[in-house]
Amino acid sequence: MTDCIFCKIVEGKVPATKVYEDELTVAFRDASPASPIHILIVPRKHIATLNDVSNEDAILSHMGRVAKKIAQQMGVADSGYRFFINVNRGGGQVVFHLHAHLVSGHDLGSVFLKMAVFAAIMWRKLVNTFKRNKY
Ligand code: 5GP
Ligand code: ZN
Repeated sequence: MTDCIFCKIVEGKVPATKVYEDELTVAFRDASPASPIHILIVPRKHIATLNDVSNEDAILSHMGRVAKKIAQQMGVADSGYRFFINVNRGGGQVVFHLHAHLVSGHDLGSVFLKMAVFAAIMWRKLVNTFKRNKY
């Protein structure tokens, strides 16, 4: 679809931070994340809403499997995450290209950052102790 922002992201015409791609879906970071981890999983094929998925289409189960994989990759599969689809305006849907949200409060990136800051502080303390005691 020519005027669909998610079709343009799928086609690479609009930039997005992609975290996963396969023959049926593309997943990328939400531009306005509600949590440290907020990924959108979209089918390559333009389907406007969940209501437009045909009975024969296996896309929903595939999107679920993709969510599971991404959650594992990001280290939140066990701690937990939310996986949901907004349907139509009353259901909070703003972009009319089917997409599932994967949302989790934990971000391994920020965990590593905190660990790095902690390690730097401890290292500085250690160095200062050595200097004071003139080893
Ligand atoms: P909806 O409310 O339709 O379920 O969710 C649409 C989501 O798409 C929103 O969370 C919004 O922040 C995100 N979004 C809208 N436009 C863009 C965009 O151009 N790039 C990215 N990465 N996310 C977008
Ligand atoms: Zn589209």
